[in-house]
Amino acid sequence: MRDVLLVRYGEVFLKGANRPHFLKVLVDNVRKAVKPVNGHVWMSDGRIYVSDFDDLDECIRRVTKVFGLYSVSPAVEMEKDLDAIGERCAMLMQGVTGTFKVYARRSDKTFPLNSQELAAELGGRILDKNPQLTVDVHHPEHRVDVEIRDNAYVYAGEIMAVGGMPMGTGGRAALLLSGGIDSPVAGYQLMKRGVRCCAIHFQSPPYTGELARDKVLQLANKLAEYAGSMRVYMVPFTHCQLEIHEKCPEGLGTLITRRFMMRIAERIAQSYGAQALITGESLGQVASQTMEALLCTDAVVEMPVFRPLIGLDKTEIMAIAEKIDTYETSILPYEDCCTVFTPRHPVTRPKKKTMPEAERKLDIEALVNEAVENTEVVIVP
Ligand code: ATP
Ligand code: MG
Repeated sequence: MRDVLLVRYGEVFLKGANRPHFLKVLVDNVRKAVKPVNGHVWMSDGRIYVSDFDDLDECIRRVTKVFGLYSVSPAVEMEKDLDAIGERCAMLMQGVTGTFKVYARRSDKTFPLNSQELAAELGGRILDKNPQLTVDVHHPEHRVDVEIRDNAYVYAGEIMAVGGMPMGTGGRAALLLSGGIDSPVAGYQLMKRGVRCCAIHFQSPPYTGELARDKVLQLANKLAEYAGSMRVYMVPFTHCQLEIHEKCPEGLGTLITRRFMMRIAERIAQSYGAQALITGESLGQVASQTMEALLCTDAVVEMPVFRPLIGLDKTEIMAIAEKIDTYETSILPYEDCCTVFTPRHPVTRPKKKTMPEAERKLDIEALVNEAVENTEVVIVP
């Protein structure tokens, strides 16, 4: 008898001819996730199993963050012996009150009882030892699960995992990561679909300080919990911002700043092997996120720009931020490079074709090159 974690996978099931590839990546990712707790991982019978972990709770915490997984159940693996299984079930329900139901399944058809007979038999044995309980087959408060496979598995219900697709199966993208609430959530949404992301952060010392930098690295660390690790590109952006402030029409300052972020991000993204950029923009949230403004920002890059939050309200974004545990870090009050030079009256309906004129006095190529060349790379954790 030993403790194991039963791990169920989700959408990977649908992958047809590519399924072996997706599964291999998924199992590798589970292996990496449980390495710090020394878990042993294997596959059998359409399931992933983890055993020999040092710390069950930590193992569950890690596995439930692996994209591509549907749910996990901490279970006891034991011999297919009815008496032993019955005892284990009764023990599981010790001290529990209310109603319950046994869910039994058997893939080993040589086991003498079929699923229904087994459920009824085990229900009876649980009641013998726990007379405080009653059976309710329609709306039970508690459940006992028993599976008869190569071995027998006894557990109670399942813990949901994050879902999505295995990390690494969706290509690569570059996330523009600010210190705000939105961009970590945007990154999470794409990572969830199996996209490996690097983060690009624009900093403007001395207008932004060490604390703002730490905050971004902390956010990247949170995201890295789902990805294993993350490359963070720290771009020095002060010179660009000062030039824009000095040489461009004030009302277009934010928009031109965003166009520079895109140009620089695209260059870094190419070097990372990314095929797309990701931002945390949501339609209409601020002046630079109107349709006209987004058209102007997209116009300077060839890569597609993914904006997974485009149709979400702030409250919906905040709910995801809470769920993935980035919210508390995001609301720390450090200056962002954008807030430093924010114009008082930003243009909300800019025209794409007037933008080159507004940027006429800037040496775009030189500014982009300078920023890219002086970018520092940090790998977290
Ligand atoms: P967030 O909450 O993600 O900061 P926001 O609502 O504050 O977003 P903006 O400041 O207009 O909106 O930024 C829009 C998007 O541009 C961000 O979601 C992020 O992807 C990117 N961005 C903004 N500032 C930076 C920065 N300093 N470094 C990297 N990316 C940035
Ligand atoms: Mg912001």
